[in-house]
Amino acid sequence: MYRMLLKVPQKLLQTAHYIELGSYQHWPVLIPQRIRLYTYEQIPPFLKENPYITDGYRAHLPSKLCLRSIFIMSNETVNIWSHLLGFLLFFSLGVNDLCTVLPASGANREDYVIYTIGLFCFQVCMLCSVGYHLFSCHCSEKTCRRWLSLDYAGISVGILGCYVPGIFYAFYCDAFWRQVYLGTVLSLILAVFCAQVHPHYLSNDWKKIRMGIFCCVAGVSVVPACHWVCLTDGLASDIVKLFLPRVLIMYLIAGSAFLFYATKIPERYFPGQLNYVGASHQVWHILVVLMFYWWHQTAVYIMRFRHSQPCPPQSRSS
Ligand SMILES: [Zn+2]
Repeated sequence: MYRMLLKVPQKLLQTAHYIELGSYQHWPVLIPQRIRLYTYEQIPPFLKENPYITDGYRAHLPSKLCLRSIFIMSNETVNIWSHLLGFLLFFSLGVNDLCTVLPASGANREDYVIYTIGLFCFQVCMLCSVGYHLFSCHCSEKTCRRWLSLDYAGISVGILGCYVPGIFYAFYCDAFWRQVYLGTVLSLILAVFCAQVHPHYLSNDWKKIRMGIFCCVAGVSVVPACHWVCLTDGLASDIVKLFLPRVLIMYLIAGSAFLFYATKIPERYFPGQLNYVGASHQVWHILVVLMFYWWHQTAVYIMRFRHSQPCPPQSRSS
């Protein structure tokens, strides 16, 4: 330990001190002054969400120290950084799409709008999540709850970001159904936003209802997906053969992400051993980034297909 202290710059030593990370003693981390980590038993009741994460909690911090805690190793570090990097990924994809991909694919004004909406939604989702995981250690319970609502609102916005390009390109040649489904999805997401205003929405009693609402909003997508297969001459048509496997992979990623989120696997089987790395919420975060990325690539693929094969003359596209 003494040898390690010598390597630390003198200036940092004046403003920081070492503390033990609860039972996790394998890597001593330099922690800015006034930030300490707590065990599950020590944190306030409103932070007690996952008993299998036994240590490494930040708590009782003012906003400034919540922000500074981004640089310490706590049980939220991977959660914060995974979605911060996710935000940077979708931001760069957005710049790349607008400057390179879309002009090269002969995109029209509608394509630009759809891509901008989709990627903007993904970025909002990532930033809301970063905000929640960064400020969940705030000393005020009210502030924590506000950030939690914002995290949930971000998930709804992320789902919307998947629906918009999906429905737009699936019903590219059928303006009627495109408008019906886009309108329905938008109303659904708005209804979820309204439900969040309910005083019980964030309570632990409503945990299952919350999960149910998100499952419904995402699961409803089966309806336009099946309708799209029927409208495009069933499983034999080229476009269905090309894109249905991609849609199924999307459901597979979304399903496994939700499974990790809801079951708290694997930390449930290794309580206290996955406090910092490898917990279910971190897997959920990484799968969400993967899912959005997969859907974005699928949208690029289907847009190029739509531009290469014009709509049949009897279609209701205009
Ligand atoms: Zn999260």
